[in-house]
Amino acid sequence: MSVLFEGEVRMFPGATHRVTLTRGRPIAAEVIDTSEKTDTWLVPGFVDQHIHGAFDIDMMDADPATMTELADRLAHEGYEAFLPTTITAPFDQVRAAVEALPDHPLIEGFHLEGPFISPDYPGAQPPEYILDPPTVPSEWDWVFDHPKLKKITLAPERPGALELIGRLSKRGVTVSMGHSNATYDEAMAGFSAGARSVTHTFNAMRPFHHREPGLVGLALSESILAPELIYDRHHVSLGAAKALTRSTNTVAVSDASRAARMPDGPVTMWGHSCTVKNGTVRLDSSGALAGSTALLSDVFENLWVDIGPEEAIDACCLRPRASFLSQGRIINRDVTTWLLVEGGRVVDRLVLD
Ligand SMILES: [Zn+2]
Repeated sequence: MSVLFEGEVRMFPGATHRVTLTRGRPIAAEVIDTSEKTDTWLVPGFVDQHIHGAFDIDMMDADPATMTELADRLAHEGYEAFLPTTITAPFDQVRAAVEALPDHPLIEGFHLEGPFISPDYPGAQPPEYILDPPTVPSEWDWVFDHPKLKKITLAPERPGALELIGRLSKRGVTVSMGHSNATYDEAMAGFSAGARSVTHTFNAMRPFHHREPGLVGLALSESILAPELIYDRHHVSLGAAKALTRSTNTVAVSDASRAARMPDGPVTMWGHSCTVKNGTVRLDSSGALAGSTALLSDVFENLWVDIGPEEAIDACCLRPRASFLSQGRIINRDVTTWLLVEGGRVVDRLVLD
């Protein structure tokens, strides 16, 4: 690979460096006069733990060639890795989607979202397929034992959930609590059983109340958690995003759906009629948000502008690598993608051989 960039950049700790990139690899970073700050930052690629699809592609009905196309197109958005995410569906559909995952350097595994969620907070997940976790051997064991299962979203208050949290967290799957009506005590029981994340914090869960803070209260108060945040400027207000990012190790996610990068207009998603408009995709029936139309590159820019570069880099590039597992890292390798960023926008991308 030829030299794509050579010059002065601010690397992610924040200091201004003179960086020499040779053959695409940063080989030297020397601190220079910090009074001459540049606006160019060098940051590791994006890691998205929660993404259903984009470009009219959805994991639930994509064949391996289409998933490869999705991964290749996400690479051009600055992605280094992602977890394709299922939705609440019958076992045979989930198995087919998992079996269709290609071997691709960006695809680290998959995120099972549902079906073990609360019927009180389905969001856009089809409620008719919601289940309680099986307490006896079942076909779902195939998913629970699958080596590519890296993260699961479930509701901790449902019967059988604590046993499943214990089983999966013990083998290194990140258990994330969400689509949940859990009280604070029920969420704490999930945390004690091994859950270490909260799925799209604030969305699809019991609202915070100062005498019953629920799962939001746990997300805001347990610093060991790595709660997800969709910061597309539609799912969560700036004030709520600040409350979360100031108190926790927030992991930004896109929760992008097939509607991401599609033009405004009608789209069918997960059996629902939806409409893409003004940066959102909503159910026609209720007007509720149905996933997002943002990619992590958009979330990154929003966080950069609204909260600051350090939080954007931590939440989109650094923490999601480390928090895939409660102990250790899923991505146990050198950074393979470096992004040159100006004002929160990716202006160049360096992919190492
Ligand atoms: Zn989702």
